[in-house]
Amino acid sequence: MKSSVKSSFKIKCPICKKEVGWEETPTRPFCSERCRLIDLGSWASGEYCVPGREVLNENEDEKEQF
Ligand SMILES: [Zn+2]
Repeated sequence: MKSSVKSSFKIKCPICKKEVGWEETPTRPFCSERCRLIDLGSWASGEYCVPGREVLNENEDEKEQF
């Protein structure tokens, strides 16, 4: 196994704010499977809010402009 210094890009886990290496984290952007599941759980229970996201009417899509 060859470890290169180039791929030392770090990301911050949105759940626990821990810094992890992008290349060495298969569960990115989460530091671990556990944090990934916590995030999924948050979505499922509706705790997670997406700012700026609106619910559009189905009809909106059909109003196309020339
Ligand atoms: Zn985490």
